[in-house]
Amino acid sequence: MDIEQFRQAGYATVDAICDYYASIDSRPVKAEVQPGFLIESLPPSAPARGESMQHILADFQSLILPGITHWQHGKFFAYFPANSTFESMLGDLLATSVSNPGFNWVCSPACTELEQCVVDWTARMLGLDDVFLTSSKRGGGIIMNSASESALTAAMAARERSLRWLSQEGGSSEAGSVPGSDIPLDCRQQSSQKLVMYGSTQTHSLGAKAAKLLGLQFRAVAVSAADDYALRGAPLRDAIETDVAQGMIPFFVIATIGTTSSGAVDHIAEIGEVLRAYPTAFLHVDAAWAGVALALPDQRKNLRLDQVNQYANSFCTNAHKWGLTAFDCSLCYIRDRRDFTDAFDVTPHFLRSKEGDSGTVIDYRNWQIALGRRFRSLKLWFVLRSYGTDGFKKHLSNGIELCGRLEGLVRESSNFEIVTPRSLALLVIRLKPQSEVPVFDEELNLLNQRLSGVLNARSDVFLTETMLHSTESDIRCLRIALGGARTTWRDVEEVWEVIETEGNRIVETWRE
Ligand code: PLP
Repeated sequence: MDIEQFRQAGYATVDAICDYYASIDSRPVKAEVQPGFLIESLPPSAPARGESMQHILADFQSLILPGITHWQHGKFFAYFPANSTFESMLGDLLATSVSNPGFNWVCSPACTELEQCVVDWTARMLGLDDVFLTSSKRGGGIIMNSASESALTAAMAARERSLRWLSQEGGSSEAGSVPGSDIPLDCRQQSSQKLVMYGSTQTHSLGAKAAKLLGLQFRAVAVSAADDYALRGAPLRDAIETDVAQGMIPFFVIATIGTTSSGAVDHIAEIGEVLRAYPTAFLHVDAAWAGVALALPDQRKNLRLDQVNQYANSFCTNAHKWGLTAFDCSLCYIRDRRDFTDAFDVTPHFLRSKEGDSGTVIDYRNWQIALGRRFRSLKLWFVLRSYGTDGFKKHLSNGIELCGRLEGLVRESSNFEIVTPRSLALLVIRLKPQSEVPVFDEELNLLNQRLSGVLNARSDVFLTETMLHSTESDIRCLRIALGGARTTWRDVEEVWEVIETEGNRIVETWRE
């Protein structure tokens, strides 16, 4: 393809994108296809002779789009939103146009410096402490592909930090004073097996996955429904003390701001206080979904911003969820950047550069697992500049407001209850028929399973169910996750009507 052909195909592609967005709300939210639908339509091998772009674009429309679940649809209320915006698409297109793996500053200075700029803009917008600013030269931020990668990366940094500390046989208990010397192999081998990670039963599966990938144990501490499924200090302390009595070493704790199931906010200060007794422990705060809402000053107390600023070693939030930026764009902040560089700086001769050697620039390869990296900051820059922090906040407030109005509708309904307090733009509900005799959770779980089954069989709505595990019971419920950039009150009303009608129908047959 030459430049003129690209120009034509590019215009045609943008036209196709515009047509898609103009028609998105008339499409079903969920793809109406069966497993294998695409594999069966595609040839087993790539074509020997190149095909025209027109032909390929036509196949995108006829073969691919039917198999797309429309996350940008106004009625997409499953999981959490993964907002895209035209602004971020344009930024991403330009990033691809200068495609480069920007791992060292010298590889593309603008990639590194724009990233430093936008992570700092975002940190300031969220109210993170100055220590997390890249300009502080102590901590800083980096953009990764996912909250899972952020947590795994933080866990690896924490493991390295703990092993260093242990290799100094206790050394200083001040986390920041861990020296950067090599860890003897025997210490690495003996201590590694004793390291334990902690989270709660509500921690995203990224915690258990990170532990599995590192070959370590993950302890999921039980939470109580009375605490709204948030992790408290006392049960964590009990779990840690039990492990320590058996010779284990606590090294990494994941606290969540906005758990996936119900949007619970863990008690960061209580957790941080527990960890004071364990100099090897590192606190990672996973705020993948809710973290961007720290941009709203009136949410900062609920989301325990001050506690994050005081206690977190690292903090992650995804701009690619509620934050208007096309997947992928996960911001990960660290209090002490040496935790990253001590773990990830492995520099053969061919990766050295004058600027890197001088220590005046960041080479982001030393803050992450991979070498190469995407130029993700460009799309976030486009979003932050075009929306401004005011527009960004307005979008967040809109999702919260719609969710508040939905909460009002659910409260008026006789057959549904709100299971946990509404968290920002997330509402967790369940079918609970009014009844003169008590109905136990087991039976309600079956009813709600039926409701989920009925809703899942439809393609005009898309919700996810969850099971809330606590020390008291296991409760099956439905999550309604608002915050989509294109969601209107009408979308919310229409989806609620479907849920309520289907729920009422189930209740009628249940009573018969
Ligand atoms: N953490 C929380 C609290 C989440 O809700 C999610 C996904 O919804 C994740 C982490 C995983 O995010 P990612 O896909 O970026 O790894």
